[in-house]
Amino acid sequence: MQDGMKKWMQLPRDVLVGHGVINDISDVCKDLKLGTNPLIVTGTTTKKIAGDVVHDILGDCGYDVHVVASTDASMSEVDRVKTEAIEHKSSFLIGVGSGKSIDVAKYVATQRDVPFLSIPTAASHDGIVSSRASIRSEGKTTSVEANAPMAVIADTEVISKAPYRLLAAGCGDIISNYTAVKDWELAHRLTNESFSEYAAALSLMTARILIDSADSIKPDLESSVRMVVKALVSSGVAMSIAGSSRPASGSEHMFSHALDTVAPKHALHGEQCGIGTIMMMYLHGGDWCSIKECLEIIGAPTTAEELGIEDKYILEALLVAHTIRPERYTILGTGLTPAAAEKVARITKVIS
Ligand SMILES: [Zn+2]
Repeated sequence: MQDGMKKWMQLPRDVLVGHGVINDISDVCKDLKLGTNPLIVTGTTTKKIAGDVVHDILGDCGYDVHVVASTDASMSEVDRVKTEAIEHKSSFLIGVGSGKSIDVAKYVATQRDVPFLSIPTAASHDGIVSSRASIRSEGKTTSVEANAPMAVIADTEVISKAPYRLLAAGCGDIISNYTAVKDWELAHRLTNESFSEYAAALSLMTARILIDSADSIKPDLESSVRMVVKALVSSGVAMSIAGSSRPASGSEHMFSHALDTVAPKHALHGEQCGIGTIMMMYLHGGDWCSIKECLEIIGAPTTAEELGIEDKYILEALLVAHTIRPERYTILGTGLTPAAAEKVARITKVIS
């Protein structure tokens, strides 16, 4: 940022993390003066887990609540939910789900220019707090600009019921911060891209705290959920301070997005990013072994086999990753040679 340049940071206003905080939903709506007719966007499974609870609490408190079940985060779903929001003159939207419902609600709320609340039922990626939404359109998933949630209500009791695999993936998304910040520093030095010391420091500290407590992140432990949720919120704040996803998304994310396009079947976003972090840390000349070790302790995949993706797609993704977001300078530069791609994947034992 240049001196004298304006900066607008958008942060969530209320963040609730803890056991049973979903029951505070009406207090949050009152606190934020959000109007009386919300539209809840939820998935078919997550509706039973949390969507119905939110609906009933708000209904009992006199809100005129409508619910729309959304199955995927696609442009056609966005249009369908938008039509519902217009029809019911919804004064705000609530996304209740593991990610897709939150992305759809977030994007529709932005388009309708109304507030949005995020109620995650899993902690698998930082989209639960961020100002970006992943929307699929014409078979391709793109990350679109949206408003950050006005409030995040992360009920650790609800989230602890989600499969542990999702929580481990969330850890991979946080560990990504290590290489994301390294890429950002590199871009700052090589291309004079603006850099925020505060955002970078917060992002790194978040990843470090998580790595330091890796051995206490275990299945069926609400305290683990709490730790990961707080780290995701903290990563989200770092992105808000930066005004971009730079502090939490670099070459490791480009690798994951590349994998989404080249592999016939992909794994969870955070799982792919975790493996991307191991390899990109090797390219940066950093301590990739401790990244790998940490993911192993948490129980997140560290190899192509554990991801359920064939070696050849890992190599293909490494070769095209730099084209995913060419304006974002990273350690991948203008791309790896096939020999270099094979070397990084083999040395880090991602492929065998
Ligand atoms: Zn991510």
